[in-house]
Amino acid sequence: MSSAADPGMGNHDDAALLEHAANLDAADPLARCRGLFIGTDTDLSYLDGNSLGRPLKRTVTDIGAFIQDGWGGRLIRGWDEEWLDLPQAIGDQLGRAVLGAAPGQTIIADSTTVVLYKLIRAALAAVDDPARTQIVLDTDNFPTDRYLVEGIAREEGLTLTWIEADPAAGVTPDQVRAATGPGTAVVLLSHVAYRSGFLADLRAITEAAHSAGALVVWDLCHSAGSVELDLDGADVDFAAGCTYKYLNGGPGSPAFAYVNSRHLPALRQPIWGWMGRKDAFEMGPGYEPSPGIRGFLSGTPAIFGMLAMRGTLDLIEEAGMAAIRAKSLALTAFAVDLYDAWLKPLGVELASPRDPALRGSHITLDHPAFSKETVAALWDRDVIPDFRSPRGIRVGLSPLSTSFEEVLHGMSAIRDRLQGWRRPPGSHLQHTCFDRLGPGR
Ligand SMILES: *Cc1c(COP(=O)(O)O)cnc(C)c1O
Repeated sequence: MSSAADPGMGNHDDAALLEHAANLDAADPLARCRGLFIGTDTDLSYLDGNSLGRPLKRTVTDIGAFIQDGWGGRLIRGWDEEWLDLPQAIGDQLGRAVLGAAPGQTIIADSTTVVLYKLIRAALAAVDDPARTQIVLDTDNFPTDRYLVEGIAREEGLTLTWIEADPAAGVTPDQVRAATGPGTAVVLLSHVAYRSGFLADLRAITEAAHSAGALVVWDLCHSAGSVELDLDGADVDFAAGCTYKYLNGGPGSPAFAYVNSRHLPALRQPIWGWMGRKDAFEMGPGYEPSPGIRGFLSGTPAIFGMLAMRGTLDLIEEAGMAAIRAKSLALTAFAVDLYDAWLKPLGVELASPRDPALRGSHITLDHPAFSKETVAALWDRDVIPDFRSPRGIRVGLSPLSTSFEEVLHGMSAIRDRLQGWRRPPGSHLQHTCFDRLGPGR
């Protein structure tokens, strides 16, 4: 997918790029999926599906029917009839469609932050070795991950070992080998770095942690639904992730937790609630954990978000993660081609790996002139990337809902913004593009 392989990209000509985008859309085996999402028939360029995925059109029907018939019709009976099983049923579907996890190891619950807290504490309990007093993580991990382990270290009297990650790349197996040892209890890392999009070598890093005698907790927020995963095959211990990003569960939809079946018999998580107790409705004295992954629950499950994500899980099962990853690679490669043609000459840096094999489904573009205001101005024009402090614009490309023309439209707007919205001499892209994508500009 590199520009070198494509003669149409050679001259940086805008009309040729537009034609190239149209050709890529025409040849895209997943192109029909885009029309299943709300809002994809407008000229808005959505480059932030990795922060909040678009809703599927069927979600309106699913949630409407739930309110009318489920909540409205079945009322409290709904819990026994269906809802109480959803955390495991949808967890199993997620495991099968996305995570490479056999049934009984995945559950939907809480938020990613809370799930990570419970998993890290569960991992520490599973290590259960007073000589292992260190948690290893990296300086560029997502803020919530860093804050959580700071809190846990204080609670448990542990120390933190920080890997200095290259902010334009990520953590390597060698760095993990160097940072771990007989004092390491748990390694906590993100599979796809939230800023650079760097795709860590999950299998090799998991192996490195294990050979040091440590357990690993993976944050899969930017991986679930964008890259292929084989958690069972890689012998991952614990993992967590969001469902409102590539899984389109909607704002605040609950997170998922994966616990390798090897750790389930002795699973000890720190938030003992009635929903995680053996026979919750017995309401008996004392906490006895439910066997299996259900013991990971704490309180009442959030049904709306689970029903919303089910549509995407069905679609992923139909499309297959291999095809989704292939589309993601094509989208990010096209975005890098556009970067080379338009943004690199303006002094923008690509703060993401060039090698597609090392990339998730987003890229970050750095420029001293990029600020919150730049992104606000783009949002005003219905071009929606994300700002990542201190000077990054993050371009997230959700494989099921993003088109190549949408990428081109958004990247051209970033270029135009850098040039003060003046159309560069000789370029007719803005017109051509907007004419094709519809009126209203
Ligand atoms: C989005 C994201 C989170 C968010 O956690 P919440 O509890 O849902 O707010 C955590 N980790 C990573 C890596 C993320 O990208």
